[in-house]
Amino acid sequence: MDKDKKIKVLYFAGSGRSGSTILNIILGNHPHIFGGGELQNMGQVYNANKICSCQSPLIHCEFWSSVVNDWSSKIEEDNITSGFKKWSEVEGVFSIKSWVKMYFGIGKKDAQFKEYLKSTSEFLRSVQQHSKKKVLVDISKNPLRAWALEENPDIDLRMVHLVRDGRAVTWSLKRTAERQNRKRPTWRAAMFWALINRMTNLVRSKVEHRTLVRYEDFIENPGLVLNQIGEMAEIDFTDIINNIDKNDDFRIDHVMAGNGIRKADTIKFETTKTDGWIKKLNSRSKNIFKILSYSSLKKFNYR
Ligand SMILES: [Zn+2]
Repeated sequence: MDKDKKIKVLYFAGSGRSGSTILNIILGNHPHIFGGGELQNMGQVYNANKICSCQSPLIHCEFWSSVVNDWSSKIEEDNITSGFKKWSEVEGVFSIKSWVKMYFGIGKKDAQFKEYLKSTSEFLRSVQQHSKKKVLVDISKNPLRAWALEENPDIDLRMVHLVRDGRAVTWSLKRTAERQNRKRPTWRAAMFWALINRMTNLVRSKVEHRTLVRYEDFIENPGLVLNQIGEMAEIDFTDIINNIDKNDDFRIDHVMAGNGIRKADTIKFETTKTDGWIKKLNSRSKNIFKILSYSSLKKFNYR
């Protein structure tokens, strides 16, 4: 397919709690970019009364309901739910079967996989048409979805492996669990963080246009990191960098899933402290994390 006709997707892969929602909002203020959120979760949230950042339930949101109706009219499916289910069959990040199939290229000529590719491209094309933006940001994070997008002849994938210190991720997961009266053991968070980043490393090696970004570096020097992403994605971020320098407001599009900050009207890029966990995470948890994920921490230059 002609490169210009392909849908350019700027995809963020890696662990959750890594700051992708903020990046999604900031990049979505570029005149050619639409930042829709975690697009892989559309199937889960669409019929579940989940709220879009515009405050409407997704099924009533003017934007997403038009996108989904348009998409479902173009795929041969009985209903929306079964259409989305096909995505999760290919993209199941914790399914060994899905990884084996992708790794060895099994079933790539099957009708089922072709249908999956078509369904994904029709959905993204619908987002492109309704948003009237050329480039789509997808912060699904799932590395297997990134791999499937790379295999899709209609997609021009630009992949950012976004990583944040796993101890900050652990602290964030623990805090949420606490609020819901659950427990999130450190060992589980550490294993999850190391595993998902290893999976993302593997996929990164299979993708042509890709870059590795640390969230802490983005907060420290947003201009440098945005230029790095821009160079890889062939997008000029000068205006966005100027907006950050001027401490402008960033408006929020119809973001369908992700961090709660998306529910504000606008956000500012604040040099939010990224090291709050250092004081809050207890030393036992820090030690457990270091023992279990030492090599991954080192690999991403975390001490
Ligand atoms: Zn909306």
